This record gives sequence, structure tokens and C-alpha cells, in this order.
Amino acid sequence: MSTEPDYSAEPAVKNLQEYLRIRSVHPNINYDECLDFLKRKAKELDLPVRVFELVPKKPVLVMTWEGLEPNETSILLNSHMDVVPVFEKSWSHPPFDAELVDGVIYGRGAQDMKSVAIIYLEAIRKLKNEGVRLKRTVHLSFVSEEEVGGGEGMGKFVESEHYKELNVGFALDEGIASATDEYLIYNGERSIWHIHVVCRGKSGHGSLLLPDNCGEKIRYIIDKFMDLRQQSKLALEQNPALTIGDVTSVNLTKLYGGIQENVIPEKMTATFDIRLALSVNLEEFENTIKDWCKEAGNGVTYEFTQKDTYVPPTTVDDSNPYWLAVKSALEKLEIPYRVLTFPGGTDSRYVREANTPALGLSPLRRVRPALHEHDESLPASVLLHAVDHYKEILTGVANV
Ligand code: ZN
Repeated sequence: MSTEPDYSAEPAVKNLQEYLRIRSVHPNINYDECLDFLKRKAKELDLPVRVFELVPKKPVLVMTWEGLEPNETSILLNSHMDVVPVFEKSWSHPPFDAELVDGVIYGRGAQDMKSVAIIYLEAIRKLKNEGVRLKRTVHLSFVSEEEVGGGEGMGKFVESEHYKELNVGFALDEGIASATDEYLIYNGERSIWHIHVVCRGKSGHGSLLLPDNCGEKIRYIIDKFMDLRQQSKLALEQNPALTIGDVTSVNLTKLYGGIQENVIPEKMTATFDIRLALSVNLEEFENTIKDWCKEAGNGVTYEFTQKDTYVPPTTVDDSNPYWLAVKSALEKLEIPYRVLTFPGGTDSRYVREANTPALGLSPLRRVRPALHEHDESLPASVLLHAVDHYKEILTGVANV
């Protein structure tokens, strides 16, 4: 017998289950079902809806709750409709059935981030039911393709006239669930660089010790990047206050070249995934890579398949009134929080690049973070508390 209360009649739970049952899973997502679902929810809440398709089949749906002072800059609540693939056999509850078992909802997107979208909607439903009107207009954007980089979703949207017309002054987006009492708030992201270093040399017989050898060169390059990796590992070990978002991470992700066992190849390539800490000067760092290539020998070059520019983090001090509003809402709720740099990438990056201050906050606490994992799940009680907390946060920021 379960000791959990029966959550199955709660609108937040039912709506999350319905949203989780839509298979908006990569690759090649058809977003039509998500759009239909969201349009129905908007109708229930009496919110006007627009759908923008800046890239065919990669829609952005925007709902709008007009404020008492619609000429003031608005608040944007962003969420993505897409979810990452599943290894269905490794799930103990089918990933698109949204089963509610012992008070826990199982499904892909339960944390990342269909739950957060439902929290936005249910917080607004409750506020509207209480007859509350907020000062600033609140827009909710539901974007596509975040889990594949977001370039065709939020990336294109922030560049459009439609985004400018929203007149956004402050945005809230996803963060990461927290296992403790704290809410984790993300005000910045590291810059992602994907670099391929190509080491060329003389081909020849595998029995000789010929000069100008691509193996020697690639060894030098790998050593340099791995030494940097080691420095970051040490920094984390030596200072427990640091998190992964505070240091530069380096990983060797691909290594290729060669044609036959006894033939020295002309070329070998090493690929690295680098996430540069916000404290790193990107121009200086690229110059260091240039130096390493030169030191490795002749014919060593590099190219980028992703090279983010520096995007400054959103200020979290007294100069940012929206931050002060978030902070005082959390203080009123007596919820502790921590401000961190996000370890991966989210759509907030594009929003900040468009000069809109943005914070990442998935208001999910006392739950094991399980984004992208098998059996991604969320206790219904966490969801329901989050709705109440979000009411306070949204009221605060929209009344700035
Ligand atoms: Zn996400």
C-alpha cells in the first residue's frame, strides 16, 4: 500500500502526464502534437497564442499574459518542447506513458523540461484564479530543438523581429534539479569550442624512424590538452567551493587517421570538446593553441566545428532589479539557493547574447537530478510545491 496522497486528480499532474505522453523525442521531431496541446492549455487559461516558424518544422509557440502596464518591458518564461532519446529497454516504466507510481511521475522530460513548462502554466492558472493581475506582460515561449543545440529554435527566434516585438526585459529558463533543499540558479554558461587538430607528416615504412612524424606531433598536442585537463581537475579537487561550471573542461572525443598497420600515415587528427570557463580570455586561449600547433612541428593546423563567443553572465547584484525580485521571493519562501555557472549549454545563451538578462532555474528540489537518464522522474509533491514557489517568483519579477 502506498502512503502517498492521491495526486492523480491534480491539474498540474494531469497536464504534465499529458505533455510527457507526446513523443517530441529526437531525431526528426514532429512538433504538431505539442502545438495542439499547448494551444488547448492556452485556451483554458485564456491566453492568446502565436506560432512562429522561422525554420520550417521548427516552431516557436508564444503565449501572452498581458500586464497592467503593457508598455513596460516584459518577462519571458522559456521552455523547450523537445526531449532527448531513450534507451527504452533500460527503463522500468515506459518512457512515454507518464505513469504515476507511488506519487512519482516517470517519463522522458519529467525534469528536462516539460515539468518546468507545466509549472509556468499552473502558476499562471493559480494567479489568474485568484484574480491577480501583474504589472508587466508575461510571455511564455515554447521552443524547438534545444537538445540539438538550439540554433534553429531559440537561436533563430532571438534574431527575429518577433522577439524584438516581445520587448523582453528579463527571462527565466531551465536550470538543473537539486538533490538538496537549495534551488540552483544559473546566471551564465561556459563557451563551447569543438576543435579538430590535424597533424600532418611524412608517410613511410612502419619499420623506420623517419623524421617529420605525425604520431610525434599528435602526441605533443594531446599532451598539451590533457595537461590543461589535469589542471582543471586539480583546481576542482583543491577547492571544494568550485563546481564544474567554474573551470575549463577538456575532453579528447575523437582520434582518427591511418590506413594500414605498417604504413606511417600522412595525417592524424585529434578532436577535443572544450568548455571554457567564463574567466578565460578566449583570444589568449586561441593564441595558446596556435603556439602548441607551432611547437608540435610543421603542418599542424586546427579548425573549429563550434566556436562560441564570450557571452557575459547575467549580473546577480543590487544593480539587477529582477535578480533582487527573485532573491526576495526565495527569501520570503525561506528557500536557500546558490548561483552557479551552468555546466552545459541551454537556450539562455542565445537570450543573453540578445542582451536580455536571463537566469536558469528549474524549481525542482529535494529530488535526484536525472536529466537525460533512464527512468527520468519527478515526485508529484515536488511539482506541486514548485507551482506555489513559482507563483511568488513570477509575481516578484513581473511586478518589478
Ligand atoms: Zn533542457
